[in-house]
Order: sequence, then structure tokens, then C-alpha cells
Amino acid sequence: MTAHQDDFFEQVNRYFDEAASLTDYPAGLLAQIRCCNSVYRFDFPLRRTDGRIEVIHGWRVEHSHHKTPVKGGIRYAPDVNESEVMALAALMTYKCAIVDVPYGGGKGGIKIDANLYTVDELERITRRYTHELHKKSFIGPGIDVPAPDYGTGEREMAWIADTYAALNPGQLEALACVTGKPVTQGGVSGRKEATGRGLFFALREACQQADDMMALGLPVGIDGKRIVVQGLGNVGYHAAKFCREGGAVLIAIAEREGAIMNPKGLDEDAVWRHRRDTGSIQNFPGATNLDTRAALELDCDVLIPAALEGVFTEENAARIKAKILLEGANGPTTPEADPIFRQKGMLVIPDIYANAGGVTVSYFEWLKNLSHVRFGRMSKRHEETNERSMLRAIELATGRSFSEEERNQFAKGPDEGDLIASGLEETMVNAYHEIRNMKLKTPQCPDLRIAAFLAAIHKVARSYAELGIFP
Ligand code: NAD
Repeated sequence: MTAHQDDFFEQVNRYFDEAASLTDYPAGLLAQIRCCNSVYRFDFPLRRTDGRIEVIHGWRVEHSHHKTPVKGGIRYAPDVNESEVMALAALMTYKCAIVDVPYGGGKGGIKIDANLYTVDELERITRRYTHELHKKSFIGPGIDVPAPDYGTGEREMAWIADTYAALNPGQLEALACVTGKPVTQGGVSGRKEATGRGLFFALREACQQADDMMALGLPVGIDGKRIVVQGLGNVGYHAAKFCREGGAVLIAIAEREGAIMNPKGLDEDAVWRHRRDTGSIQNFPGATNLDTRAALELDCDVLIPAALEGVFTEENAARIKAKILLEGANGPTTPEADPIFRQKGMLVIPDIYANAGGVTVSYFEWLKNLSHVRFGRMSKRHEETNERSMLRAIELATGRSFSEEERNQFAKGPDEGDLIASGLEETMVNAYHEIRNMKLKTPQCPDLRIAAFLAAIHKVARSYAELGIFP
């Protein structure tokens, strides 16, 4: 275990304390917001396919019950530990507050390298983990709602939903016990890509701020911005895809086994297929191989860490040349690296805002599961009919007649995917301005990260005030 993992929770609290020092809330209230309300650690046996018995270590942490259910992903990684899960749960509390999603923060972890287990073993681990959560009431649509994180995805979420439903026969809202499920199993269109798409909206909004771009010496707009991505998993792949489609140029990708670079631009999908077929990101046609660490230090406009925490430390921070750091991963920047980034004048778009697209769309999925109806089902045709009538009225008034192609383009009632993407865009754009304005109106606030923590502290404190815990 490395030093940063040991005290990840303490690191999150250092950011919290810096933001809290800009408020005048009572110390006891701040201590209540900061602490983890419940920490559940448990072990269970797994019989491996070869007959060996192995002990599996699991955690679920509920950081804040100021709003319920609590919400947060489940991570499968070999170095998961209690401090890490507590830190990630705390980040979830602040993240949900920033994007106005009505949950407390939670997080889960299982200490395994998912690559070393068969699909059958992973299924048994996931179902047993769900049993353990259920035994102690650490899962349920109104209690605690997990989601995917590092090392987990739609498949694991489907196993969790199925196990929970089997343990609660007839419970009408059972599917809302977990989000990030496949669409056929109660998921919502656009959840898989939500975190990456949210990162794109965050970056696009940041690049639209003329003052901020001028301070960085960059042109306004995302068009042509040179991007480096670390981690080609769910978050990294989709962030790369949406940013590239939005006009940015993906010049390098770093993975565990090494990195590749092509200043003319890479296609994340072709790279992903190359890695699947050859087992490595390297030796991609037209690209140059380089070391993973060297890729992070390339001259670029935007660096997107989308792997794990603790990537930027006092050791490498000074060598980072990116002007904008868009934090896809949770906790990629240590508190030692942050002052160095501030000194360099970098724009850091912090994790607790930047990667909130996932939980935002998870919230939409939860609402869908509770209402038992697909978004847009009731209104799509109605809107389409209204729009067609409007086009007809324009035709009559102007004498211009629309082609069938134009008619289909202008009069298209939104489907679920359109509504999800638009709800996500609205959320990310509003939240960006909220934290940017918080920074601008708080003279001692050094950067967007502390501004985001400050905005979150105000919202959680307001919740406690409404509960009558403090005046
Ligand atoms: P994932 O498992 O899908 O992908 C992670 C990728 O990082 C993998 O491809 C892995 O090989 C790669 N990786 C691991 N170590 C690396 C290294 N040293 N250098 C380069 N690449 C490395 O996980 P994910 O869901 O994309 O999550 C990534 C990060 O984003 C995590 O910090 C997670 O907490 C955060 N996050 C995820 C979501 C979500 O919706 N999945 C939401 C918010 C935040």
C-alpha cells in the first residue's frame, strides 16, 4: 500500500478543512459533515474454480446520512482499503451536493484484481457481497444505492439487482437498489457514457470563459485543444470520445502497460479495439510508443486522468505541462501537488464537480426505476405532433414548404437518450457556473476545488439547518 492510499480520507479532509476555514459554521457542525456515519467491513470465503478457498475482503461506507438514500460506486481493485473507501464516500457526499442530486455519499470496495478471476467467480463474489450488504441493511432503494466504479460495470450491477430482487420478492421498487444496470435490466440510455459525457460538458463550459482562457494563453472554445487521457476504461474512453467529437484532438493515451502518442490525433475506438486484439495499447499504427509517466508530462492543453487516485504528487507536479487538468478519476491530485498547480497558473477542474455526470445520470435511472416508465414515453409523440403543427402554420404563413427530411429533423419528439443527455448538460453547465461564481465572490478562495468544497459545505449545512440541528 502506498502512502497516498493510507491516508486518502485524510487528504480529502485537508481540502474540506481549507474550504471550511472560509465559513463561520460551528466547529461541531463541520465535524459532523466531515465524518463517516457508518463503516461496514466484512470478509467472506470464495471457493476458486481450482478448489482453493480464498478470503475476500469487502467494505461499504455511508459517509453522510443528511439525505437518504446514500449513493456511490463499488470498486474492484487489488489495493482497496478502508481509508480509500471512506475518502471516496466523502467525495460522493460533496459531489451530490454540488450537482443538486438528493443523496448522501457512499462507496463500496472489494479487494480483488478483477482480471485474475473467472466470470463465474466474479459473479459469485458480487452476489455474496450483495447478500452481505443486505444482511446489515446496507443496500436498498431508500437506504443505499451502489453504482459502477473502477473494475465494475453493467454486468456487476445486473447481478446486484438480480440478487437484491431475489432477497426481496415482490418489492415493487427493487430495481432502484442499484444504478448503472444494462438498459434491458432497468438501466437508462446514456448511463454508461455519462461520466465521460459530463467531463466533456465541463471542459466545453470552462473553455467558453474568455477571461479564464486568456489567463491560460489559450483560445476560447474546445476546438483544436490538444488532449492527453490516462486510462482507457469507461470514463477515459467516453471522455476522449466526446471531447474528440466536440472538436478536440486526442494526442496521447496512457494505460497500465504503456502509452502512445500521435500529434495528428488518435481515434479512441480504434485504439480500444487494437488493445483488445493485441493485449496492449502500444504499437498502434501511426503512433509512437512512450512510457506511461512520460505521457502525463507531455506538452498539451488538457490532461484527463481517468484511472486511479494519487497520480499527481509533489514529485511530478512541477513537470506537468498541461494548462487544464480535467479530473475524471477521483482524487488524482494530492494536496501536495495542488499548490504547485496553483503556482503554475493551471486551471484544475476538480473531480467532485468534473466527474459528477455519472451520479447525475444514476439519479435519472433511479427516478425511472421508481416511476416504472421510460423517460419520454408519455410526451414524445405529443411534442412531435405539436412541432408538426407549428411547421404547418409556418408553411401557411410564409408560403414556404418544408421537405420531409426537414420535417423529420425539426419535429422529432425527444427519446430517453435525448432527455438524459439534455438533463446532464443542464446540470453540468449550471454547476460549473455555481462553483466558478463561488470562487469569484470569495476573495480567499484559491481555486475551483476549494470553491466546489465550499459550495458543498454550504448545501449540506443548509440541510442540517432544515433538520433543526443548528439554527
Ligand atoms: P475502469 O475500470 O473502467 O477503467 C480504468 C482504466 O484505468 C482501466 O482501463 C485500467 O487499465 C486503467 N489503469 C489502471 N492503472 C493505470 C495506470 N497506472 N495508468 C494508466 N491507466 C491505468 O474504471 P472507470 O469506471 O473508468 O473509473 C476510472 C476512475 O473514474 C476512477 O477513479 C473512478 O473512481 C472514477 N469515476 C468513475 C465513474 C463511473 O461512472 N464509472 C464515475 C465517477 C468517477
